[in-house]
Amino acid sequence: MESASNLLIAVDAGHGGWDNGAQGLGRREKDDNLALALEVQRQLERQGLQVLMTRSDDTFVELADRAAMANEADADLFVSLHRNSFTRPTDETYGIENYIYLTAPPETSGRAAQLVLSELDDVGVQRIVGVSRGNYAVLRRTLMPAMLLEMGYIINETDNLLFDENLTAYAQAIAKGIMEYFGLVWNANATPPTPPLQPEENEIYDMQQLLESRYGFGLTPTGRYDDPTRRAVTVALQIELNGAYNAGLAVDGKFGPLTAMAIRPIRQGDQGALVALLQVLLTLNGYDPGEVDGYFGPRTATALRFFQRDHFLTSDAIAGRESFTALIKE
Ligand SMILES: [Zn+2]
Repeated sequence: MESASNLLIAVDAGHGGWDNGAQGLGRREKDDNLALALEVQRQLERQGLQVLMTRSDDTFVELADRAAMANEADADLFVSLHRNSFTRPTDETYGIENYIYLTAPPETSGRAAQLVLSELDDVGVQRIVGVSRGNYAVLRRTLMPAMLLEMGYIINETDNLLFDENLTAYAQAIAKGIMEYFGLVWNANATPPTPPLQPEENEIYDMQQLLESRYGFGLTPTGRYDDPTRRAVTVALQIELNGAYNAGLAVDGKFGPLTAMAIRPIRQGDQGALVALLQVLLTLNGYDPGEVDGYFGPRTATALRFFQRDHFLTSDAIAGRESFTALIKE
């Protein structure tokens, strides 16, 4: 059986930004997709799984980028959330349908898609149309089992009513189906996940070696995120802030208000030495941003989100003063 915390589920809220998706009865598909996606994220995280969101707000993301995010993060499953609309004149325009790619194996994508539909059926739906095959870009370009779920027709009153009434229950059903696919048992009493385990000593050791090789402080690797390491990483931060923004900080290894004030927010898509330091800091704190490559990709964003959540910060995956302060101070 898989361990929940080892699984990364890519949750893709279809459309967004200028792309409203389907529209009808005063609704925009992109809004429904996002509301459901955020709830699916919450449910999966409560159950201890990791979630990668291709978008968490009303922004447009290219289809290729959505797939690339999941591929780069090596997600274990991709679920794209949509609302349906009138496609062919002969269609019966109501009910829930789940798409898998043209060549997707029945025992992976097909089974996962079927399990999700069964769980949704248990909640209550107008109609389960079934699993179909479709040549959708996010299905074609993703390397892991993938499904594109059409959560009822946005042009059908009853589908909309059910969608609104059952938003949480549908999100739970989707999460349940996904867990079932991985052989995991739904925990009805799940509380928000506890903070991650203490960092592996050797990972801290690696970070200390990396800091030492890049900045040469005479830091002795101990395998513990200790005071000398906090000072060393602060020195590195001060050097990089001076370099990037002409911050004019004294390079003294003391994380005071001036250093905090000099920090500017960094976010997904950014790259460079400050991103690398963020990755070092996340690793020192026991979170897993992947390799320290100075590229703020989805995995770094996910690690930061977990860190923020566990430290009662806004879980927005943007590293600003508050996040850096919490990452460095004891
Ligand atoms: Zn759509």
